[in-house]
Amino acid sequence: MPAPLWLFADQLGPHVHDTDAHRDREVVLVESARVLRSRPFHRQKLHLVLSGMRHLADELGDRATYLRTDTYRAAIERVGPVVVHEPTSFAAADLVARLQAEGLVEEILPTPTFALPRTAFDEWAGDRETFRMEDFYRSQRRRFDVLMEAGEPVGGTWNLDAENREPPPKGVTVLDVPGPWQPPEDAIDDGVRRDLDAMDLPTVGVDGPRWFAVTAAEARRVLAHFVQERLPHFGPHEDAMLTDDWAMAHSLLSVPLNLGLLHPLDAVREAESAYRSGDVPLPSAEGFVRQVLGWREYVWQLYWRFGRDYSAKNELRARTPLPDWFRDLDAGAVTAACLSTALAGVRDRGWTHHIQRLMVLGNHALQRGYDPRELSDWFREAFVDGFEWVMPPNVVGMSQHADGGMLATKPYSSGGAYVNRMSDHCRGCAFDPRKRLGDDACPFTAGYWAWTHRHRDLLAANHRTARAVAGMRRLGDLDAVLEQESAREHF
Ligand SMILES: Cc1cc2nc3c(=O)[nH]c(=O)nc-3n(C[C@H](O)[C@H](O)[C@H](O)COP(=O)(O)OP(=O)(O)OC[C@H]3O[C@@H](n4cnc5c(N)ncnc54)[C@H](O)[C@@H]3O)c2cc1C
Ligand code: SF4
Repeated sequence: MPAPLWLFADQLGPHVHDTDAHRDREVVLVESARVLRSRPFHRQKLHLVLSGMRHLADELGDRATYLRTDTYRAAIERVGPVVVHEPTSFAAADLVARLQAEGLVEEILPTPTFALPRTAFDEWAGDRETFRMEDFYRSQRRRFDVLMEAGEPVGGTWNLDAENREPPPKGVTVLDVPGPWQPPEDAIDDGVRRDLDAMDLPTVGVDGPRWFAVTAAEARRVLAHFVQERLPHFGPHEDAMLTDDWAMAHSLLSVPLNLGLLHPLDAVREAESAYRSGDVPLPSAEGFVRQVLGWREYVWQLYWRFGRDYSAKNELRARTPLPDWFRDLDAGAVTAACLSTALAGVRDRGWTHHIQRLMVLGNHALQRGYDPRELSDWFREAFVDGFEWVMPPNVVGMSQHADGGMLATKPYSSGGAYVNRMSDHCRGCAFDPRKRLGDDACPFTAGYWAWTHRHRDLLAANHRTARAVAGMRRLGDLDAVLEQESAREHF
């Protein structure tokens, strides 16, 4: 008999276990109690991971061995030697390497859950020191021949952002888009819920109905529904926020993609084919391909490329501990409508869409100088799609600029005007996005100036941000704004 295949919880799809190399192997899945209780994960995240693993064990029947042990090692000692695909974090890769040195892992195969192999990225990267996402994205389009015609991008242009990213339509509270397909729960979910209640783990957030796919069949169904019904609206509303529309036209595919249930190339091919059959406009198809084949793959590759020390970067010397209300997702303690809505989304579903993560939660943390490492841990624990590899580039790099600009050429800090343009939050907010001083001064607007002042030397030296410093110097009430923000305790 060939050695069993050990699958981590983010390697659950048929492109991992149902291949010619593995079809005859027993599959080993391990529920490690120590991992489950290692951090205060969102209750719904624990549910999705356990539900995903247990559904796969159920599907595979006699082929699967499902072990509940304290540690991964204890399980592999029982069933090894095993073969395994390279896991998705430095820590797990170290463990697998140690087990191999001890003879418990027979072979480590490449990670099969991304489009571009790591070796191919290294060839592309060569001795580059800066990695522009746009360059990488174009190379991905060419390499995988996605939305291409005779070596050129279809429609003659690579980037259709200018046609995407509109504010929400005026006067609506929800987008006129069919809702996401919600997978039905079953007896396996009931069992997971019972077990999680009994395990009494440290968690954040509340339990709730399952919104995300945990089987390959569910993932295909979410993808098909998204592409047919929602993708046409994705591009224009990609960056918009509405208080009463938590999902907008987003795909909700990050969970099945990150659990390894759906291959990213299958997702982009489906979007491309809908465009080619005339069902989806090019800007929406391109916008989605850019996210999955561009951003997601770029973040994955940079996790490894930037290395272990990158997570500890703190170039802006941000040292404020996360306040309890933020850590505990206490949306009710927050007056700022945009921040309260985003925190409530994390509390209730362990998910918010990208602009809430970047321009509300991340922007707030940046302005208030939250420690980037603590913030990364928070995102990883509180979001249902949070995995180790996603955090450093997205949180340390993109959202907190703690890498000093290795990933993004300028920090994503903005005042209330951005939220006001891109959402309906300000209409129902006790603060006023145009005010920087007074009881109703918007904490994002005032916070933007206080943050610009704190980092004025750095920002003045960057031609993309120098104008902000010049603008700050023209404010007649700057000293009062700084005093107000240094005393602010309530948001
Ligand atoms: C501060 C911050 C934290 C984030 N944390 C996570 C996280 O923990 N897990 C995660 O998967 N994504 C994370 N993202 C990226 C992005 O916000 C989510 O992938 C997206 O909101 C998930 O919702 P969706 O599946 O509906 O995505 P859609 O808006 O429908 O986009 C389609 C897909 O594109 C991919 N994608 C787009 N941008 C990124 C990106 N920057 N990094 C990785 N994948 C991307 C995702 O797989 C997503 O499913 C984070 C972004 C920021 C700024
Ligand atoms: S006024 Fe400021 S705090 Fe209130 S919703 Fe708008 S941006 Fe957010």
